[in-house]
Amino acid sequence: MSAVRRWLAALAAWWRDGGPLLDRFARLGPRLIFAFLAVSLLLPLVGLVAVREQHSAGARAAQAEGERVARHIAHNIVRPLGPGQPRMYQRLDELQQYIGDLHQDLGRDVEVVDRDLRILADAVPGRQGQLLRDDPLGQVAATMRDGVPRAFTERGDDYPHGIEVVAVPVRGTKNAIVGAVLLEYTSTYRELTGAGVHITRAMAAASMLGMTAALVLGYLLAYGIVRDVRRLTRAADLLAAGHDDVRVAVGSRGELGRLAAAFNTMAERISEQKAMLTDLATSDPLTGLRNRRSFHAQLETELDKARALGSALSVLMLDLDEFKSINDRYGHLAGDAALSQVAAAIQQQLRADDVAARLGGEEFGVLLHTGSERAFEVAERLRAAVARTPIRYEELELSITVSIGVVSCPVHGQTSAALLQRADEALYRAKRDGRDRVCGPPDAPA
Ligand code: GH3
Ligand code: MG
Ligand code: MG
Repeated sequence: MSAVRRWLAALAAWWRDGGPLLDRFARLGPRLIFAFLAVSLLLPLVGLVAVREQHSAGARAAQAEGERVARHIAHNIVRPLGPGQPRMYQRLDELQQYIGDLHQDLGRDVEVVDRDLRILADAVPGRQGQLLRDDPLGQVAATMRDGVPRAFTERGDDYPHGIEVVAVPVRGTKNAIVGAVLLEYTSTYRELTGAGVHITRAMAAASMLGMTAALVLGYLLAYGIVRDVRRLTRAADLLAAGHDDVRVAVGSRGELGRLAAAFNTMAERISEQKAMLTDLATSDPLTGLRNRRSFHAQLETELDKARALGSALSVLMLDLDEFKSINDRYGHLAGDAALSQVAAAIQQQLRADDVAARLGGEEFGVLLHTGSERAFEVAERLRAAVARTPIRYEELELSITVSIGVVSCPVHGQTSAALLQRADEALYRAKRDGRDRVCGPPDAPA
């Protein structure tokens, strides 16, 4: 008992811990194929049982027929040959005549034996007086002992496939058993059980067909399901790896179709939320321009590109002039309005691939994919645009100016730190020189 329990525990542990083989089997494809195979194997199994049943029913019917005929013979041979005459089985020549005629009529082997298994008459003449050669397992002797008919298969050199024989008792006076009639019923047996061979063949063909159909159908079904599940798994893996643009299309409608639709909706939501978060993390809420962090990240990226391609890149650093006085005079909200309107004016002057950002307070940064000369032109355009843009706040209309420091890569520096440092110096220079102007770094021409 404990050994069985130990064995079960080991089996459970093996199932739980798995292994390469078990992992393989845990996959959906092999499991489905195995299930279909198991179900399709049921078909020939059921067929086999049916054929066996048919065969034994045929055998029983043939045996019953043989028994009926043998009883009839047994009955005939115990009748007196005439009033006051002996019974037929007591007159061996009469008996042999009768059995010989029967053999002619029925085409079957018939033998009559006495209680000592001595042959009284045989379809083949000349065996009279001999002992019965074969009595398999003492079947005939047993029938004469208990009076119960028996059927058996007799094998010999002349009939290696065996012949079917039934033995019934012969009852003389006072119902005493005086011998037995042995009747061959092979032909009936073959006829009745032979139908089973055709049925077996038909059943085997049908089973093979059914099995092939079940396997093909099963394979197609399993293939569709496995393909869709694999697509979903791959899409889920990609989504988990951060590719939120992944979408999945499956062939199935039902649950897998719904699962794919739900997956796509989920991926859609994730990418929307990611876009929202990215926007929140990279933009300045007041002006809608990029924020400081995004500007610095973009500067690094653009510098890498510029260095790799040998192209020029310029940085403008803008600071509004006397901005504090606007806050002081008209209030902080007026200052905010000024900031967003100046940002819009700046953005309006730029091209799509230029980058504008609010670096903090009333300070802005711009990245231009141009060299120093063109950067100065753009900076001058920006300065002029800010200066002529009326800042509207409630019924007020204010004007504001901006000072701009301009630096270019590679002329004024190659790293972001160097460029930003030089841009600060340039801006300081513009402030010092009287504001509302564009300047390069102190050691470069304005
Ligand atoms: P200048 O640059 O010409 O030297 O003078 P300034 O008055 O602009 O001097 P500074 O740059 O030092 O002043 C920045 C002011 O900007 C200080 C602060 O009140 C204001 N400020 C910074 N951030 C905001 C903001 O988000 N909204 C508003 N309304 N004001 C801000
Ligand atoms: Mg400032
Ligand atoms: Mg300022």
